Amino acid sequence: MANNKTFTMIKPCAVKNGHIGAILAKINEAGFRIVAMRMTRLSVSQAEAFYGVHKERPFFNDLVEFMSSAPVVAAILEKDNAVEDYRKLIGATNPENAEEGTIRKAFAVSIQENAVHGSDSDDNAALEGGFFFASSESYTADGIEVLD
Ligand code: ATP
Ligand code: MG
Repeated sequence: MANNKTFTMIKPCAVKNGHIGAILAKINEAGFRIVAMRMTRLSVSQAEAFYGVHKERPFFNDLVEFMSSAPVVAAILEKDNAVEDYRKLIGATNPENAEEGTIRKAFAVSIQENAVHGSDSDDNAALEGGFFFASSESYTADGIEVLD
């Protein structure tokens, strides 16, 4: 059965361009509940670790520089079929290929500065959520109880 959580970051470009509120509104309107959230700035080594899967790619150094250049907003989102539905909501990596109505279509600047990150699997959603949040920092649906 699909996990019901995914992990997102609003990337430095969208934070700098003043799109935090508009992106969070789209996330809520699409039926996701925010169960953990923090604004933080990644160090170079945190950005390298987070995107470590891409370390052999030609864009890796630029990506790390970009991701550590200004704050991000990190969040854990909850919804049925969260990973797949959130990838649909954010749209294609390259905003030129992103569909109308997607977050990247509306807010991405380029293939690198593409506004948001979204986990690509249930396993990565759990790993990435754990990269940013202790279990005591995420909350159940009523927003009060702390999860185990
Ligand atoms: P993310 O993991 O951030 O949600 P994604 O899964 O759509 O994005 P990945 O292939 O995992 O895409 O790439 C990670 C990030 O690296 C992209 O979101 C983008 O910021 C950057 N990136 C990917 N491809 C390129 C490229 N060809 N040139 C520059 N930057 C790129
Ligand atoms: Mg990815």
